[in-house]
Parts: sequence; structure tokens; C-alpha cells
Amino acid sequence: MKIGVIGVQGAVSEHLGITRAAMERCGFTGSVEWVDRAEKLRGLDGIIIPGGESTTIGRLMQRTGMFERIREMGLGGVPIMGTCAGMILLAKVGDEQVKRTGQPLLGLVDMEIERNAFGRQRESFEVDLPITILGGEPFRAVFIRAPAVRRVWGNAQVIARFNGRIVGVLQQNFLALAFHPELTADTRLHEYFLRMCKR
Ligand code: GLN
Repeated sequence: MKIGVIGVQGAVSEHLGITRAAMERCGFTGSVEWVDRAEKLRGLDGIIIPGGESTTIGRLMQRTGMFERIREMGLGGVPIMGTCAGMILLAKVGDEQVKRTGQPLLGLVDMEIERNAFGRQRESFEVDLPITILGGEPFRAVFIRAPAVRRVWGNAQVIARFNGRIVGVLQQNFLALAFHPELTADTRLHEYFLRMCKR
């Protein structure tokens, strides 16, 4: 199995590390690659779009020719996990800020996203979050200038909420998380994603 982490800006190396650890735990053989140009997308069984600045990541993905290709791969069924800025990029509809800046969205998940949804006082925080698809123990979720989802429709399924706000969404081959699962030692969400990629 070959998994690619989009590495143009943001929390790239942490995702590489934890995805490799998750692969070992699942007993899957394969590699996890740093993907910074379109050619490197070829043959990937799964794509991770990390956190960072969604405006920058989106524009750099366009400049490198990866943007359209990732969109096509997603529409073709390749699993994509987007965390934080990556979640924003997966959304079909953005908030006022997204519209004002004209930042590009991949438009793959039936959700409306709100950037920086938790305000200034709560720029970053950690909570124990129950996540439906994991069952068992809650997940220690690290939020950093995180987005939230205002609403979902269609096939999107809410898998996590914090203070009533939607912070995790699963839709077919897409997994969107408002927080940073690569910043803890808990590999469960990456393992879940790798099993999506194995199908
Ligand atoms: N606030 C960032 C954005 O809107 C996302 C923050 C993050 O990925 N940690 O793009």
C-alpha cells in the first residue's frame, strides 16, 4: 500500500511518522511518501492533507498541478483524510471568509465549513473526544485555530462533536477532522483511515 501526505506547507512530518506507525500496527506493508508534485500522486492508495494554512496549501496545490488531480482521485474513490486545514479544503461550501478570499476548495464532502470557528480565546486546546467510528476510549484531540462544520447533508455522516459543533465527518472515501490526530501518540484514526485505503 502506498499512502501520500501532501507536503507543501503545514504539519507534514508528524503525519508521515504516525501513518508509518499505524501501518505497522495494522500489519500492512507499504510506504508513506511526502508528496509535493503531481507526478508523485500516481499510484497512491490514500492521500492525507495535513493542517497548516488552508489558503496557502490550496494555492500551492494549484500551482503544482496537484489540486485538480487530487479532486479527480477523490471522485474516483481514492480515500482522502483531511485534518484541520485539510478538512477545510475537502468541504463543498465555505464561510464568508472563504468566499471573501476566494480560496479554492476541493469540494468533495457534503459539508459547510467555518474557518477559525473557536475564536481567539480558544486558539488552541485539547479535549477528550468521543468518536463514533472508534468506539471505546475517547480520542485526545488537539485543536489549533480549528474549523468547525456548520452543517452536513447528503452522504456525510457526523462522527464527532465538541460543544455541539461538528468536528468530524465521514463520507464514503473521505475522512475530515477539525483537529490534529498526528499530534498525539494515538494511532487509531490513522489505522481507521488505512483500513479505508485497503478496501
Ligand atoms: N486556521 C487554519 C485555516 O483556516 C487551519 C489551522 C490548522 O490547520 N491548524 O486554514
